[in-house]
Amino acid sequence: LDVNSRSAENIASQGKTVISPINIAVAGANGRMGRAILPLLAADPDFAFVGGIGREGAIGAGLIDRSAAIGAADVILDFTTGNAAAELAGLCALAGGPALVIGATGFEPDELERIAEAARTIPILRSGNFSIGVNMLVGLVAQAARALPAHAWDIEILEAHHNRKIDAPSGTALMLGEAAAEGRGVSLASVERRGRDGITGERPTGEIGFAVLRAGGIVGEHSVLFAAAEEVVTLSHSALDRGMFARGALAAARWVAGRAPGEYTMGDVLGLA
Ligand code: NAP
Repeated sequence: LDVNSRSAENIASQGKTVISPINIAVAGANGRMGRAILPLLAADPDFAFVGGIGREGAIGAGLIDRSAAIGAADVILDFTTGNAAAELAGLCALAGGPALVIGATGFEPDELERIAEAARTIPILRSGNFSIGVNMLVGLVAQAARALPAHAWDIEILEAHHNRKIDAPSGTALMLGEAAAEGRGVSLASVERRGRDGITGERPTGEIGFAVLRAGGIVGEHSVLFAAAEEVVTLSHSALDRGMFARGALAAARWVAGRAPGEYTMGDVLGLA
């Protein structure tokens, strides 16, 4: 494929330029998520794969230079790290495109600011979880948190992942925490408790706690507990296969291609936002 040509046929429609096929590159192509995405891309006529992006200087089958990918792609899917994704967002914005779908998690506040800045120039869709089920769960958690008062119901978020995961709590656990806090009309930062150890004292009313497990090959388990004195409601999701994240990421790429600059979420794709 000639990485210098944008061969897409653009048709203006409903606030979005329809691009067909969508030239797409994948950052983190050799990672677990990258390896789940590539076969789906190859089988999908909506997309033309322009290449994978590795670490700077990395070479290998299917890998192309980052600037070549930025020049050739309509959309880049990023499943790397928070830091690498923020850097890529800045470079894409500097070039005036392509659009970015960010699946990476583990962001520092300044990295999120850099992404927000880049989204003034290009469309960026970021989600800590691309599964339909988890995005449905986010809505249910917000609804439950709105209905169950903080003075009687404690909220705890429990997540488990494989032993290679480098950030904690997971991006999904943080999404669920944000949803619970939003349901209660508070900021997560003001009520979150990231783990407990030693003499912690009694649990403050209104706290939203996170508990994290790392073990074996677990793809992703999330539970949100609403615990009162005499009963517990648990809303939970189990990821059985990375293919589900990969399919969600491709749906996100299809949705974001040709959009106006801005920050978008899976809620926009699924019509839940
Ligand atoms: P992984 O197997 O460790 O893969 C990460 C990939 O990123 C590797 O290929 C790695 O390259 C590459 N990478 C790391 N730093 C880089 C840099 N500075 N520049 C370019 N490439 C870099 O991890 P994974 O399980 O695929 O997960 C990747 C990310 O997606 C994580 O943040 C994870 O939490 C997140 N995730 C999100 C979802 C979702 O639905 N949003 C689902 C699952 C996972 P090397 O091969 O050279 O190390």
